[in-house]
Amino acid sequence: MRAIFWLVLLLLIGFAVRKKIRNRAQSLEREARRTEANPMRDMNAATPEAMVCCAKCQTYVPISEAIVREQQYYCCAAHATPT
Ligand SMILES: [Zn+2]
Repeated sequence: MRAIFWLVLLLLIGFAVRKKIRNRAQSLEREARRTEANPMRDMNAATPEAMVCCAKCQTYVPISEAIVREQQYYCCAAHATPT
């Protein structure tokens, strides 16, 4: 009778461990698939935006906010305007 008790206990532990391992593998797989679907998301979070120097006042501005004129970057429209 005691042997059956231990056998059942071992089986239950075995099932629990196997379920836990499967859950972890599934969540890892889900995470990998999410990153695969949008690889730029994590990259954007890690990589800061490129900064460019204003040709007039030497202020650094993000490249998305910079104004480009004659292949030079400017911080604002006033500096981009030729004087
Ligand atoms: Zn400037």
